[in-house]
Amino acid sequence: GLFGEQRKNSMGANLGNDNELKALADAIAASAQAWTAVPLVPGGKSGAATINVTDPADRRRIVGTWQPADAALVDKALANAVAAQPEWDRLPAAGRAKILEHTADLLEANRGELIALCVREAGKTIPDAIAEVREAVDFCRYYAAQARKMLGHPEALPGPTGESNQLFLNGRGVFAAISPWNFPLAIFMGQVVAALVTGNAVIAKPAEQTNLIAYRATQFLHEAGVPAGVLQFLPGDGATVGAALCKDSRIAGVVFTGSTETARAINRALAARDAAIAVLIAETGGQNALIADSSSLPEQVVKDAVSSAFYSAGQRCSCARILFVQEDIADKVIAMLAGAMDELTVGEPRLLSTDIGPVIDEDAKKILDDHAARMDREARSIKVAKLDASASHGTFFAPRAYEISSLAQLPREVFGPVLHVLRWKASNLDKVIADINATGYGLTLGVHSRIDTTIEQIAKGVKVGNCYVNRNQIGAVVGVQPFGGEGLSGTGPKAGGPHYLARFVTERTLTINT
Ligand code: GLU
Repeated sequence: GLFGEQRKNSMGANLGNDNELKALADAIAASAQAWTAVPLVPGGKSGAATINVTDPADRRRIVGTWQPADAALVDKALANAVAAQPEWDRLPAAGRAKILEHTADLLEANRGELIALCVREAGKTIPDAIAEVREAVDFCRYYAAQARKMLGHPEALPGPTGESNQLFLNGRGVFAAISPWNFPLAIFMGQVVAALVTGNAVIAKPAEQTNLIAYRATQFLHEAGVPAGVLQFLPGDGATVGAALCKDSRIAGVVFTGSTETARAINRALAARDAAIAVLIAETGGQNALIADSSSLPEQVVKDAVSSAFYSAGQRCSCARILFVQEDIADKVIAMLAGAMDELTVGEPRLLSTDIGPVIDEDAKKILDDHAARMDREARSIKVAKLDASASHGTFFAPRAYEISSLAQLPREVFGPVLHVLRWKASNLDKVIADINATGYGLTLGVHSRIDTTIEQIAKGVKVGNCYVNRNQIGAVVGVQPFGGEGLSGTGPKAGGPHYLARFVTERTLTINT
């Protein structure tokens, strides 16, 4: 195959096809549908779903209801997981891989509902929602293929005559999967299926903002054949459910995507236990730069800066936050950027004409409003995009661009559609590289240049997990651009890459004197 394997990534939707479009629009509009999410813990007591989930694009619209787990349920889930894991781990890896592939088929068969949930619960635009479902499907099929390859049979190792040596890979035990709201289906699925296919039991604790879609995904995994005790669903807030899981000595590993600060808190909680040392796989924030030199094409720089910084409402950890533009072309690029921002449609994500939807909730909006107020005082405003009339009842934040004078003005990641522009002089490229590295983050980097030596100097000099040259810097594809950073951006291994599953297993060597 194209990527040296049989597996193919899933297809998107054909938005030029009227029937496909109508089916999508119907699924999204189906307002009779009210989703629900409750803890899925065999033998555990749970009550009624009472907390309302409202649509980020219009807070008057109720999308569904959910019920948080309490401490007793956390304990019960851990006991269930410990009991269920050994048998699951003893299954041949191919059996678990088959269940993942069946899950992928179920996701595809229920694509309309899942897209609708991404739009309604997470405020995603339709193209982003389509991509989200594709990525979830790809994770299932990719990790299934990886598991067959890695875990299908023990690796035979050489030894002297009369001795056989074999290396076995097994699940570590119970994993907590703590997933984010920004990819409520894809990252949820990626974490959970990686841990499952390697023989672990999983307790899934999704972000509180997006329980409904995670619950549906869990149901599909159960329907495909994952036993109820092997995958449990435990919605709740981080302070109660997440913290209780990470403190417990029955947890063998945590797979987490979210802020660097939370990853550190998880690491501390795991380390403080009087228990075996747990693994932590964390994918965290970024302070991602896009460097454009004077040989680059301004139109292309602006196009890629706009999609990398503003699309998905800037709520990807891969998003461009800082555009370093060489001074010779800076005025031109800045003027074109302002013009391009005038063309953005920011509003109701159900409409195909919308480029950018809402931010996830009031808290996110407040942080962005505060940041904008500070930038208005301390930086030069380049442009504030306008909001569409359809944006009046949701948590919308207008995309903005500012010219700043130093990276010191950005002490931390700002998770939303704000681009900060910095000019640089040709003689200062080493300093630009050093400044980016000094942030301590290392997730994505965009480079725009037509000079090979400059591209090489930047790509080799900046310590990041994903470097993209002369294109945008978002939307890593499973099995094609393994995704994840270094330093403050995460522990690795990269999601959707060939080494990811290795962190979920223990290795056992069996030597037999024959
Ligand atoms: N994988 C996504 C991308 O490449 C970003 C994931 C995230 O935001 O956590 O854009």
